[in-house]
Parts: sequence; C-alpha cells; structure tokens
Amino acid sequence: MAQHQFQTEVSKLLELIIHSLYSNQEIFLRELISNASDALDKLKYLTVADERYKALSFDPRIDILFDKEAKTLRIVDNGIGMNETDLGESLGTIARSGTRSFLEKLTEDAKRSSNLIGQFGVGFYAAFMVAERIVVISRKAGEAEAWQWSSNGKDGYDIERSERDSHGTTVLLYLNEEGVKYANRWSIEDAVKRYSNHIAFPIYLTYDEKEYDDQGHEKSSAVKVKQINAGTALWCRPKAQLSEKDYHEFYRQMSNDTTDPLLYLHTKAEGSLEYTTLFYVPAKAPFDMFHVDYKPGVKLYVKRVFITDDDKDLMPSWLRFVRGIIDSEDLPLNVSREILQQNKILLNIKHASVKKLLTEFKALSENNKEKYDTFIEQYNKPLKEGLYQDYANQDLIKELVRFKSTVVEGYTGFADYAARMKDTQKYIYYSAGVDEKTARASPLLEAYRDKGIEVLIMGDEIDEIIMPAVGKYKDWELKAINRLGADTEVTKHNRQAEKEAVPVLEKIRKALGERVKDVRISRRLHESPSCIVAGEDDPSLQMTALFRAMGQGDMPETKPILEINSEHPLVAGLKAVDDADYIADVAGILLDQALLVEGLKVADPAAFVKRVNRLLTKDISSEEKPAADAD
Ligand code: ADP
Repeated sequence: MAQHQFQTEVSKLLELIIHSLYSNQEIFLRELISNASDALDKLKYLTVADERYKALSFDPRIDILFDKEAKTLRIVDNGIGMNETDLGESLGTIARSGTRSFLEKLTEDAKRSSNLIGQFGVGFYAAFMVAERIVVISRKAGEAEAWQWSSNGKDGYDIERSERDSHGTTVLLYLNEEGVKYANRWSIEDAVKRYSNHIAFPIYLTYDEKEYDDQGHEKSSAVKVKQINAGTALWCRPKAQLSEKDYHEFYRQMSNDTTDPLLYLHTKAEGSLEYTTLFYVPAKAPFDMFHVDYKPGVKLYVKRVFITDDDKDLMPSWLRFVRGIIDSEDLPLNVSREILQQNKILLNIKHASVKKLLTEFKALSENNKEKYDTFIEQYNKPLKEGLYQDYANQDLIKELVRFKSTVVEGYTGFADYAARMKDTQKYIYYSAGVDEKTARASPLLEAYRDKGIEVLIMGDEIDEIIMPAVGKYKDWELKAINRLGADTEVTKHNRQAEKEAVPVLEKIRKALGERVKDVRISRRLHESPSCIVAGEDDPSLQMTALFRAMGQGDMPETKPILEINSEHPLVAGLKAVDDADYIADVAGILLDQALLVEGLKVADPAAFVKRVNRLLTKDISSEEKPAADAD
C-alpha cells in the first residue's frame, strides 16, 4: 500500500489518459522533455538573476538513456530539481486550472478527441500510458538531500530519501507492454525530432553502436552519446534558413497544439530597441479564450533566457489568442516579474507587436479571403473587444472586424458596406440582436429592405455595447435601427392616416400605462403591427438585459418605446372598439410580441398566454358557439 494517495482529480486524469488517449502515446516523451526544459529554464534564470546561484557550475542538458533488456527508459536533466515537498505537490496534485478544465471538457465531450490532449498538455502523467511504474529521483539546486518519488499510477505514491550526485531530476520509466517500443534508438530519435527539435537545450541520446561481421555476429559494441535535437532557439535563426515546416513544428512544440497554425509572424527589430518576436495565430481559438483565468500564450525571454509565460500584460487582452515568444536584448535579466508591467522597453515592444499583427491581419484580409473567413470565424469577437478597448488602434481594427448583412452572403466589413452605400445615404445602419437569427428577424428591418438600404446584422451580444462606443466609420455615423431617429431615411409619412390613428394611440397608451416610456405611431413599419425602440440616448433593452446578466443589477430598468403600425388590421381594428378589456389584451400583445421578436423577455409570460388565449377563443365563441355549451 502506498504512503500517499493521489488527489481525486489526479486519479481521474490518470484513468482518462490511460484509457482514452493512447492513440497519441508518443507525446509522453514531449511532455517529459518539456518538463526537463522548464526545469533548466528555471535554473538558468536563477544563475543570472540570483546571487546565491551565480557560483553554480551549470551546463544545461537533457539525457535520454534506455535499456532494452530491463525495459527501462530514463530522462535526465540537470535543472532546478525538486525536494520532498515539491515532489508531493507537483506530482500528487493538479494545481493547474488548465488541467481542471481539461478534465471537465473530457468528461463532457464524448468524443474524447486525442487532439484535446495536445491542447491542454496533461504533462507528467502522460508517462503512465507507457509505464507500469515510474520512479523520479530528484535533488533541488542548492540543497544536499535527494528524494525519490515512485508510483504505479494506481494506488498513490511513495516518497523516500535517495541519492543523486548533483542537482536535477531523473525520471525512470519501467515500460509496460505498450511502452517497450520506446526502448529503442529510432523511436526515440523520431519522437524527439518531431516534437522537441527546437527545445533550446541539447538533448543527448545514449545508445550502443554495434558492428557485425559477415555472418551477422556482433563484432564490437561501443556506447555512443549523440545530440538528437537541433538545440537552438528557433527564433534566433535567420528567417531565410527557416521553412514553413520548421515554424509549424516549433509551434506544435511550444503550444501543445496538434494542428498547424493559421499564420505566423517572425520579426527581428534592430535599432534603438533590439528584440525578436515570433507570433502564431492558432487555427482554432484556444479553448479557454473566454475564461477569466485563461492562460496567456506569449512567453517572455531576455537574451534567450526564459523569464515568464504567465504575464497577461505581454499582449493586450483582446489579442489573448496569439501564441508565441518575445525575446528582448535590452531588458535586464533580473527584471522582476512584478515591475514588468510598467517597463518602458516592454511597452514599446508590445505596441510595435500589436501594430505588426494588425498589419498582418489586414494583409490576410486582402490577399486570402478564404483564410481570412476562417480567422474571422474564430477571432471576430476578441477583435470587437479591441475596438472597444484599444482606442489608439481603433481605426485599424475597424478595417478588420466583419459582420453579416441583409444584402451580401457571408461576411462583410465597414469598407465594403461603404462602397455599396447609395450616394444619398447618410448613415451606416445595423441591427444588433442576441444572435444573428434574432437580428435578422427584427420587424424594424422592413423599411430598410423596402428602400433598398443595406443593414449590417450583428449577432454577438457584445455588439450592443461596442457599436455605440465606436460611433463612426470614417465620416459615417453608425445607427442602430432600433432607436428613435434612425428612421429619417426610411420614413413613410401619411399625415391623414396618422391623424386618424391618434385616438387608437391614446387607447393603447392608456392600456399600457407604466409598462412603456411612450407609444408612437411608426413611420417605418410595413408588415408588422408593432416594434420596440430605445430613445436616442437611452441604453437599449438588450443592453440593459446584458449588463444585468453580467451581474450589474443596479443598472436602472429601461422602459421601451412602443411603435405601432397604424395601418395594420390589428391596430386599425381598435378604432371602432370601446371594450376596455379587449383593448388591454390587444395592447398587451402588441407590446409583448414586439419584445419576443427581439429575443427579449416579456414581463409577465402567464398574462401574455392568457391574453392570446382569450383573443383566440373570442372569435370562436362569438361566431359558432359549440352546441355542448348551449345549456
Ligand atoms: P506542467 O509541467 O504542465 O506544470 P506536469 O504534470 O508535467 O505539469 O508537472 C507538474 C510539475 O512538476 C511541474 O510544474 C514542475 O513543477 C514539476 N516537474 C515535473 N518535471 C520536472 C523536472 N524534470 N524537474 C523539475 N520539476 C519538474
């Protein structure tokens, strides 16, 4: 019986990995090498930034050794190492939120696609796919004692004292039946080349080189140690020497994504500031893009020394889907992680990087429409956040965001809309709804359709908040069609009919009372009997609902303005009616249906249903009363 039990989540994870993700077995090596590389990064940082470690002799390397007969594989690094506490905390619990979401997602997601393992990186535990027992022997840099962690991946783990000549970690795998194929020179070389070629530290493989005589008998055997990865930071190499394949391979290794990226951007800046950046846009938006605790995708290096991968300020939050690295020549190596945010050098790099990325996106929109559509499918929403958050780049971002429209298929942008505008048209119109379908169904669109005026369809919830803040594209004001004052270009004005409708208007006003801000005769409805609009400076009902959903309960309630179509039979029919109950029913329905069609909640659904039923049965009962009711 093992001394320590795994945290429940670890057991769950282990089970899932072993049973559902084995199609991607060989990634265990990538995970172990990446841990070793992180451990080397951490120590390298300390040797330059911390006095206590400066005297340490340190020649960072990773070694892989195997023994076919004993069925073992060892991955050895001379990095930071772990002490007793570290071993228990790191290899017995799951502290990372990413892994948690991974678990949640896996259990939800029946497909259990092996792609997921890539996106999340399940780390160390992946090794239990190929090992029946794992022993980790580690000594922390600066400490004298070594410790050993061991487990069969089923009933917990043991930690005991051990021996190790110097700091670092040895992960010893006792391979299971599936795993024995990795006790082999070629499969190791193959997996390292594929996944870990550009790890910035050398990876050495130790193997026996045998010579055979003519009869196939072993003549001699010599132990060889050979470096099997490229071992340089890819971003330091000249662009001209790098192929798309190199960039893609590096991406897969750094991001754990198994799909090639949509695009990459490698920049070397020389002059007043010297730095290199290598950015990637994933083909699929990172799974945690809309989680508050998303993991940033950009790592900071100073002169090839890894500093942090956990700084959300390296990129503006609306570009949080970008993966990659920033490597600066000018930042001090011992720059404290806390003061990075205010650092001028870093701010400059960040600004320049944002401009570069935006220019690249723009070029993509001009040169490759199909790829740009894929980009928009994934990243239109964060770009819209950028419209709102990044005032300095707003004009550039305006050229990038896309919308649906009442006139063209697929996506369109402000520039294309403007090119299609009639000479006389004064505004850019949009219909924003809780989703595309609702935005398209708005009765307010009728008048624009009849006048042949294009309306942009905005189906993301945030459009309601963002577009009023954006205000304009070039000289054209953006107008939400669901506002007063947005109808000047589409009005149909029949003075006589309006005059005749005034008494009806009064009846409805009286019936609805406090439920509405006002009731008006619409000059833009053609087919629908009613619609709701917001005052020119009021927040729309959709916006209020959205803010409330976000927890801003103190947002004052906004009352709608009801516009009625005086020519519609339902409205016109009220002229001759005095029955107050009947008027109240019709007025209530005119309001509630206008809310429903905009995807909004009616104040009292039960009352709405009763009204509808009363009106429906009213016709039946007045015209042909069923005989059974006669007595
Ligand atoms: P991740 O590497 O994504 O954090 P892992 O499960 O692979 O998740 O590893 C958990 C933790 O164990 C690491 O964060 C690190 O602190 C520690 N660790 C793993 N391997 C090593 C190693 N070779 N040297 C030092 N620490 C390690």
